[in-house]
Amino acid sequence: MQWEGEAIKAINRLPVAKRRKEKARIEAAVLKAGKDIVTLADAATGVQGIVNTATYAADGFRFDVCAGMGECPNRAHRHGDKGGRELSDRVRRLLEAENLGVFLKQSVKGPVRAHHAFRVSFSDCPNACSQPQIRDIGIIAAALPVLTEMACIMCGACENACRENAVWVDADRESSVFDYNRCIACGSCISACPTGKIGAGDSGYRVMIGGKLGRHPRLARELPGIFDAETVMFIIKWCLNAYRQKSTQGRRFADIVAEEGDALVSVLQKAIDNRKQLNTGR
Ligand code: SF4
Ligand code: SF4
Ligand code: SF4
Repeated sequence: MQWEGEAIKAINRLPVAKRRKEKARIEAAVLKAGKDIVTLADAATGVQGIVNTATYAADGFRFDVCAGMGECPNRAHRHGDKGGRELSDRVRRLLEAENLGVFLKQSVKGPVRAHHAFRVSFSDCPNACSQPQIRDIGIIAAALPVLTEMACIMCGACENACRENAVWVDADRESSVFDYNRCIACGSCISACPTGKIGAGDSGYRVMIGGKLGRHPRLARELPGIFDAETVMFIIKWCLNAYRQKSTQGRRFADIVAEEGDALVSVLQKAIDNRKQLNTGR
């Protein structure tokens, strides 16, 4: 079976003793998915759980993607063609290009440990299997449903598909109704609706920053909104820049977010808004 160059690089990070077995497992999964080429994302899903901690220290980062990336029936963008795989590959390439291993070597007195690594996680739906809530940056694919001009046949499929009780059929209005306070933008009702009455409104990614485990664990705080892929890349670059400027002695970005709190988030929010204004010309 053919392997993309980046995928070969990823599998070669494994200890030799584990490489052959893992390679066979990944190829079997790729074959089962009806494909004949192993991409970086395929390799990453297999490799992530067993890459030894020395790798995180050397690379200066750890990037986890959920196991179903691009294939899982639960992914938020399954109604369209916006799989998270392309964006997750871009995020990985960005992290590699940042040379965070070199940065940490210069910043940390003594040996760089795995716990110093900058952690990013990407999940293709709000089930969040790759635990984005406990990473320096977490990304979750999201699709917010909206009602369209199409007909509602009152079938109740949307209601049945929603595990949050965020959508129900309203007989008087002859349509479905949403409670957006409950909706977590999983996209299930969009896929379930047979007529297209429910379409994708804001479709993109939720982003959270500042999560970690360890001696002082905390959950990441979510930035308000659903962002397109370019804005996600902008946010990650902004965070990496802030991390480089503020981190000394291997201090985690999550600790910087915790210490600076609202002040840091508000500067980031302003940068996101300015970028949006520049792009829209407003
Ligand atoms: S996070 Fe969602 S898309 Fe990814 S493996 Fe879990 S259930 Fe599937
Ligand atoms: S209404 Fe329910 S099923 Fe639809 S996107 Fe929101 S949480 Fe998911
Ligand atoms: S919105 Fe779609 S899924 Fe929901 S009841 Fe109407 S036709 Fe059925």
